[in-house]
Amino acid sequence: MTQEIVFDVTVIGAGPAGLAAALAADREGAKVLLIEREARLGGILKQCIHDGFGLVRFGEKLSGPEYAQRFTEPLSKSNIAVWTLSFVSEIQIDQQESVLTVITRDGIKRVHTRSLIFATGCRERTSRQIGVQGRHCAGVLTAGSAQYYTNILGKLPTKRCVILGSGDIGLIMARRLTLEGAEVLGVYEAKPTPSGLTRNISQCLWDFSIPLYTSKTVTRVFGDARLSAVEVASVDSCMCPIAGTEEMIPCDALILSVGLIPENELAESIGVPIDSKTKGAVVDERNETLLRGIFACGNALHVNDLVDYVSESGEIAGKAAANHTRKSRGLVPVECDCSLLYVVPQRIDRKSEQMERVFFFRSLQDLDHATLTVTKCGETLFTKTYAHLRPPEMVRLSIVLSSEQLSGCEALRFHLEETKHE
Ligand SMILES: Cc1cc2nc3c(=O)[nH]c(=O)nc-3n(C[C@H](O)[C@H](O)[C@H](O)COP(=O)(O)OP(=O)(O)OC[C@H]3O[C@@H](n4cnc5c(N)ncnc54)[C@H](O)[C@@H]3O)c2cc1C
Repeated sequence: MTQEIVFDVTVIGAGPAGLAAALAADREGAKVLLIEREARLGGILKQCIHDGFGLVRFGEKLSGPEYAQRFTEPLSKSNIAVWTLSFVSEIQIDQQESVLTVITRDGIKRVHTRSLIFATGCRERTSRQIGVQGRHCAGVLTAGSAQYYTNILGKLPTKRCVILGSGDIGLIMARRLTLEGAEVLGVYEAKPTPSGLTRNISQCLWDFSIPLYTSKTVTRVFGDARLSAVEVASVDSCMCPIAGTEEMIPCDALILSVGLIPENELAESIGVPIDSKTKGAVVDERNETLLRGIFACGNALHVNDLVDYVSESGEIAGKAAANHTRKSRGLVPVECDCSLLYVVPQRIDRKSEQMERVFFFRSLQDLDHATLTVTKCGETLFTKTYAHLRPPEMVRLSIVLSSEQLSGCEALRFHLEETKHE
């Protein structure tokens, strides 16, 4: 017979977001379950052996596993039930609770939970999703897979490779593979500017003399059982390859770092509305989705640049989920124009007693001396000037907004503009 178990808060995913969410809910006195499909806790941090984690939160440069340990240690001393090698196969929701079907090593279990938190992380875009032509032979792999082979399995997946895309994982792998003795022939980026953090461009490419080619892409791959070469070409302003600029590069691997997509199939299966810009759930400032009692955090909500913000979003969701009452909300939409890539949260609750509202946003393009304006019905509520904004670098912004300021407000609007300075 299927075992039926009741919890106050259930968290799906035990990466940094899920760990922080479970601990925060536990601190509020809730009975918490943490479900993880892998054997070990920590999510992507397990394979990130480089340092640079935790600068904002702990003021230290930790490796991924060290950062995870700061959360797994208190977890092991808490009352949180942890189910690893467990997979949620189905969720049903009603007014009062969610019911999860979970496949575990001890059989199928049905979990009844008052609040549910999605902390399922994100996955990498593959060569199929970016339309690289040619046979899909061995040697075409994502940067995260290359990292897993190198750091977890101890196997070098290439001796001579090309990296497509200048996302942070690709940059970190360019350095890592070089340190392991592989030859990284170059990082090719279709956009005119790199996608990764400035510190990663400098520490992972320039420090190791690895070339970065912008406005160039890989158009074809060659090889039978194993990749033997790639074709690269320059692209125009619409990112279309320019005929006559093709060049063949012999190599044994093409490593892709072409973007991350929040993993939300489970959330979508119960009808959680998704933001087309972030590909994560639409949430309010407590990270509650538009479905009552369902929360989202971390990279499942939007792709974060720093793990510190991932943990913060987990804590917000965990605390709110533990104290969830299904009291009615007065949701005000938060909108951004085309000067921003996105803003999270996409709603704020004018009935919330908490006046400090934390937003995360990214600019659409590189801007120097840019002013952010937040308005309601044409009235300016807040402005702030930034010396530099770059799309890869997420901005955290805290604004105090009272219920009175938000009364009669149809929407909050975010706008960025480059301003002249002396
Ligand atoms: C290569 C790389 C380098 C990075 N470098 C840095 C850095 O130097 N500094 C920094 O601050 N940040 C860095 N980051 C970013 C940071 O690591 C991530 O933002 C963070 O790990 C995301 O946390 P998460 O909990 O949202 O997701 P994840 O860490 O991906 O965890 C999600 C977890 O959910 C589980 N899961 C998913 N679906 C299910 C399901 N259906 N059932 C059960 N479990 C499920 C997964 O198995 C996984 O364990 C890096 C990221 C990568 C990939």
